[in-house]
Amino acid sequence: MNATQLRNPTRSVPVGSVTIGAGHPIVIQSMCATKTADAEATAAQAEALKRAGAGIVRIAVDGRRDAGALRAIREKTGANLSVDLQENYRIAGDVAPWVDKIRYNPGHLYHHERNRPWQDKVRYLVDVAGEHGCAVRVGVNCGSVDPEKREKYSAGDSIGPMLESALDHCNLLDQLGFTRYCVSLKDSDPLLVIELNRRFASQRPDIPLHLGVTEAGMPPEGILKTQVALHALLSEGIGDTIRVSLTLPNDRKHEEIDAGRRILADLTAGRPPQAGALAPGGLNIISCPSCSRVENEAFVELAAAVKRITAYASDQPITIAVMGCRVNGPGETDDADLGLWCGPNHVNLKRAGDPVGAFSYDEILPRLKSELDALIARRRGQTPPGGY
Ligand code: SF4
Repeated sequence: MNATQLRNPTRSVPVGSVTIGAGHPIVIQSMCATKTADAEATAAQAEALKRAGAGIVRIAVDGRRDAGALRAIREKTGANLSVDLQENYRIAGDVAPWVDKIRYNPGHLYHHERNRPWQDKVRYLVDVAGEHGCAVRVGVNCGSVDPEKREKYSAGDSIGPMLESALDHCNLLDQLGFTRYCVSLKDSDPLLVIELNRRFASQRPDIPLHLGVTEAGMPPEGILKTQVALHALLSEGIGDTIRVSLTLPNDRKHEEIDAGRRILADLTAGRPPQAGALAPGGLNIISCPSCSRVENEAFVELAAAVKRITAYASDQPITIAVMGCRVNGPGETDDADLGLWCGPNHVNLKRAGDPVGAFSYDEILPRLKSELDALIARRRGQTPPGGY
């Protein structure tokens, strides 16, 4: 199949110099992992990603210092810029003049100013986006689903609340007369990504979709997971823009774009993903791609070390999550058998969603290995070593 043919008849969503949807070429995106407040470094990374072929480059903005850097970043790079908002949605007003797109997460929107209806918050964002000619992405993520939606569904149903959240936001945006938006529905499980996006597209084939597998991890597994999901969806005409989220050091971030290009080229050439290499039922390491919010520079190294020291358990049906910060770390390690999320000086460890403790960067790897050994022993019906 040609990746630009047989696509859903989605709306056209201009983002700076590119257009998402309406049969336009699929846009490959990436995200800066530099500190946003460091305008020099962030603009340099945005430029490098643009040179590698990124149609849109996302930047996390959490506070006034980040927002204050946006003007300088804009002046130093011609990349099409998207800002990633967290709970403080009001910061959109400060950054919109300098960017082309605003991404908000319905789950995070819920937490700030709890007494204010989410509809009012979306109205504010739409007013800001409209005033400054920005596109919007409604970015629904498995680790941070709107709690009101989650309560309506059974604990095992992760698709229902995410889908309802996305559809409700689309309906409101449409009612407000704002159509310059796309949607993403991301999970760390490629099969859930396929199901979520298929179901969304069957109800709203007109809305452009941003596809990706969140916390896909390190190459090559992270690329394969993403390829499995994207190949299935794009083959069905679903998806207008993609991101391959990979845990990589800053100087290798361009590999996300290279991977995106290869996935699209394979699809065009009819080459199927090498899904067998994922060893279904074996050890699954999910790790975030890192961004400006990462709390310790050692995060990428830590994720690589986790992969290295757990390789002996590759045939075990165990999921280990490694996350870079407190913003998404606590939520996105909930479903893992063992979860790590970074603080500035300590790494927090969870076992099946329950906190085990905070360990120094020197202590965490031996402790993780003990936990893994104990988990394997318990599953074999043996007494865990070390009394865990
Ligand atoms: S977990 Fe934190 S550091 Fe990692 S990508 Fe998400 S927001 Fe960024």
